[in-house]
Amino acid sequence: MSKSVPANQCPDCNGGLEDIKLFGRSWKNPLSGAAIDAEVMYYAAANAKRSSMMSMYEEAGTVRATMCHECRRIFLHGIPN
Ligand SMILES: [Zn+2]
Repeated sequence: MSKSVPANQCPDCNGGLEDIKLFGRSWKNPLSGAAIDAEVMYYAAANAKRSSMMSMYEEAGTVRATMCHECRRIFLHGIPN
């Protein structure tokens, strides 16, 4: 049984949660310092296959990321389409 916790409160320490952005970063060019950042915005079913035309996954929903002010734990929340 999971205890009921408000969506803006950490279930571990009761600290406040704030929205954050998660992203991946490509290799960084040592001369220019430039890299490509890609935000983690979507999720798909575990068995999702890439489409043949665009090589993209069919998204099942979006991801909301939050972090606790106190213990710094990061939470991911799926928002179905
Ligand atoms: Zn916490």
